[in-house]
Amino acid sequence: MGLIVQKFGGTSVADAARIHRAARKAIAAKERGNKVVVVVSAMGDTTDDLIDLAKQVCTVDGKEVVPPKREMDQLLVTGEQVTIALMAMAVCALGHPAVSFTGGQIGLLTDEAFSKARIKSIDEKRIHKELDAGTIVIVAGFQGVTPDGHFTTLGRGGSNATLVAVGAVLKADVCENYTDVDGIYTADPRLVPNARKIARISYDEMMELSGLGASVLQTRAVEFAKKYGVPLHVRNSQNDNEGTWIVSETQTMEHIVVSGAALKKDLTRVTIKNVPDRPGVAARIFHAIAAANIMVDDIIQNVMHDNTANISFTVEHGDLHDLRPVVEKLVTDLGAGTVAAFQGDLAKVSVVGVGMRTHTGVAERMFKALADAKVNIQNITTSEIKISCIIDREHGPAALRAVHDAFELGGPGGAAAKR
Ligand code: ADP
Ligand code: ASP
Ligand code: MG
Repeated sequence: MGLIVQKFGGTSVADAARIHRAARKAIAAKERGNKVVVVVSAMGDTTDDLIDLAKQVCTVDGKEVVPPKREMDQLLVTGEQVTIALMAMAVCALGHPAVSFTGGQIGLLTDEAFSKARIKSIDEKRIHKELDAGTIVIVAGFQGVTPDGHFTTLGRGGSNATLVAVGAVLKADVCENYTDVDGIYTADPRLVPNARKIARISYDEMMELSGLGASVLQTRAVEFAKKYGVPLHVRNSQNDNEGTWIVSETQTMEHIVVSGAALKKDLTRVTIKNVPDRPGVAARIFHAIAAANIMVDDIIQNVMHDNTANISFTVEHGDLHDLRPVVEKLVTDLGAGTVAAFQGDLAKVSVVGVGMRTHTGVAERMFKALADAKVNIQNITTSEIKISCIIDREHGPAALRAVHDAFELGGPGGAAAKR
C-alpha cells in the first residue's frame, strides 16, 4: 500500500463540479490501495478577491494604507478553509470517509513572518491516525500557525509548499500537484503557444524556472522537495495524462543545453545614490533589506569620482510597500545626501538548463535573439544553469517567444521533448 499526497490548485476547485472531479481523483487513488491526503487551495480567484477587499477597506479618502500583516493573513487563510470543508463533504457524498484539517489542526507550525512564513514542523500523528482508519484526509494549503497561535500564510502559491512539506513528513511515495495545464512546459503555455510539455526536469532547473517566473510551482516548494527528495508529479486535474516528473538530475539531462525559458513581470529597480564608498556599506544595506524578508536580485554598484557609489537592485513590485520604509530609513541613517529612486515597468527574461555547465555559446545566442527582436537588454545576470536579462516590461512576452524560438524549444522536434 502506498501513500499519495495530492494538491489541487485554485482553478481545479473553482466550483462544485471541479471539486467533485478532484474528489473522484482522490477516491480513485484510494481505491487503487493507497492512503490519500489531499491539499487544497482557495477556490478560483478567492485569494485575489480577498486581497482586493482588504485594499478597499484600507483606502481612506482616496489614500491606501497598508493593512496590518497579521490581519491580512487572518483574512487570507479563510479561503482555503472553505475549500477543505467542501472537499471533505464531496468525498463523503461520494461514499468515502473524509475529514478536513486546517494548518493549525495538523500542527503545521511556522515562524512569525506573516505573508511569507516558513514551515518549521508538522505533527503527522493526527494525519496518520485518520489514514490508518481508512479516511481520506483533506488539508488546507498555504496556511500555518505560529507557536503563539497566530495564523500565517506561506507566500503566494504556498499550497505547493504545504503539499511538499506534508509529503516529506509522511514520507509519501509521490506528491501529485494537480493544476490547469498538463505539466511543466518549456515556457508558460499561455504566453508561448508552441511551448512543449517536458517529461522530466531536474529539481535545480525547476527551482530556477520557478524563481524566474514559472509560477506553476512555488520556488520554496521545489527547494524543499529537493532537500527531502520528495518525488513531485505535476499533472492536469481535468484529465488523466501523465504530467511532468521533477526528479534528481541524471547525466542525460546535460545533453540538452536549455530546457526552458521564463518571464518574470512586474520588477522594479531601486537605486540608492551617493552612498559612501567604504567597506561595510553594502553589507548594511542588504542586511536591512533581508531582515525585512525581501528578496533582491541583479545588484549593480557604480563608483563615482567623489568616493561615493550608486547601488541599484531589482525587487518584485509587490515588495515595494515593505521596501520603501526600509530604504528611506537607510538613506537617513547613511547620510551624505543619499537619494532613493524607484523605476518600475521592468521584466526579466531567462533561459535555464543544466546543459549550460558543459556547453558554451548560450549567452551569445540569447543576446542575438533579443537583438533580432529589437529588445534592449538593461542588465544581465548568470548562474551556472541560467542566463537572465532585465528588459522593459512591455517587451516581455515577445522577448520570451524570441528566446524560446532561438533555442528551438517549441514544436514537434523541441529539444526538451527528447528527455
Ligand atoms: P494552481 O492554481 O493550480 O496553483 P497556477 O495558476 O498557480 O495554478 O499555476 C499554473 C499556471 O502556471 C499555468 O496556467 C501557466 O499559465 C503557468 N505557468 C508559467 N510557466 C509555466 C511553465 N513553464 N509550465 C507550465 N505552466 C506554467
Ligand atoms: N491561495 C493561495 C494563492 O492564491 C495559495 C495557493 O493557491 O497556492 O496564492
Ligand atoms: Mg499556484
